[in-house]
Amino acid sequence: MTKMEQQQRSIEKTRLNPNGSKSAGEFLAFRNGKLDLRSIDRLEAERTALNSAAADPLPGKNLPRVGVLAIQGNYASHSQALTEAGAEPVEVRKPEELAGLDGLILPGGESTTILKFLEKHRFFEALGDFCQHHPVFGTCAGAILLAREVRNPAQRSLRVLDVVVERNAYGRQIDSTILTAESALPGEPLEMVFIRAPRIVEIGAGVKVLARRDGNPVLVQQGRIMAATFHPELSRDRRVHRLFVETVIGAVEQPAGARAQ
Ligand code: GLN
Repeated sequence: MTKMEQQQRSIEKTRLNPNGSKSAGEFLAFRNGKLDLRSIDRLEAERTALNSAAADPLPGKNLPRVGVLAIQGNYASHSQALTEAGAEPVEVRKPEELAGLDGLILPGGESTTILKFLEKHRFFEALGDFCQHHPVFGTCAGAILLAREVRNPAQRSLRVLDVVVERNAYGRQIDSTILTAESALPGEPLEMVFIRAPRIVEIGAGVKVLARRDGNPVLVQQGRIMAATFHPELSRDRRVHRLFVETVIGAVEQPAGARAQ
């Protein structure tokens, strides 16, 4: 299908189903193949507003409270995905806002910018400590922050996930793309939106690989730490967020201190 045909098809779909949620592919087709995170955020916000009428009138009741680092990147889409996956999202901008959370998502964005912010506001150490005791899920730049080692260029990281990542590793031509591939998640193949993605080039023995791109791990889990080099929040499928929410629920039921080693 040509780009023109794709765009026409997505316009047609939206016309037929104006209030329906759009897949990442449709978002991208709207921009004529150009990735535009701000427009994705805006469309997500519109969708949230449309869906809110149907939302639970008592949100937050007995739901796990999952923070979303809201410094940069598309954290609003993560909050929406968490709501859909059965958690209460909480935007986090200061280290003291980590208190009382059951888990945390580190969204994509620009890892150097996020890192500088964390260091400037004495947030880096608090985050490292939080990772020792709670489930944390990093997507794209968030995955870079969690890694044991960062290359291209080297950069400080929290070192709580036993992987080595290479930033912007897919080259200019194919750095941003949408792929669908088999994964370890039950059900249909998984849509994966890659935006200037890092590549996981080494993994430790304790790291489980849940999905791959061309043989390289793109969705991994090591105990309570999860990382994706793609953006699950930009797809309609909520299986990845649901998996994280289940990890959070499991950890609430069995806190880190009570864990048998
Ligand atoms: N290229 C970014 C980095 O190296 C990550 C991109 C993303 O999060 N979408 O920090």
